[in-house]
Amino acid sequence: MSDTCIFCRIFRGEIPAEEVRRTPESLVFRDTNPHAPTHLLVIPKRHVSDLGTFVAEAPAEEIGDFLKVVGEAGRSETTGGYRVVSNEGADGGQTVHHLHFHVMGGRKMAWPPG
Ligand code: 5GP
Ligand code: ZN
Repeated sequence: MSDTCIFCRIFRGEIPAEEVRRTPESLVFRDTNPHAPTHLLVIPKRHVSDLGTFVAEAPAEEIGDFLKVVGEAGRSETTGGYRVVSNEGADGGQTVHHLHFHVMGGRKMAWPPG
């Protein structure tokens, strides 16, 4: 946990967010700047900057449990399919440095993304 990280603060309830689901180790909430009719963010409680760090540091069971929440959020919050994205680093377009998966649906997604 980090005192200053915006997503740690959302996890702790210090910054309001539209929560969709909470487990002891993860949180699903709505993105404030949605790029699709459904645009969720899924974060682990563990403060890690990105996916590469998460898979290097966390036990496999924790990684698996987190991925399960991501897939369950996609299935339960959309009907016609969904897209999962995790941006890492400058070239990946990451702006918040606490691991998050974007889960987007409710419209047909273009491919390739920009
Ligand atoms: P990234 O650019 O790092 O992949 O994604 C960060 C996402 O977090 C962006 O889509 C942005 O809209 C979202 N975001 C940033 N600050 C907040 C916030 O305070 N609350 C919520 N709900 N989403 C946020
Ligand atoms: Zn954090």
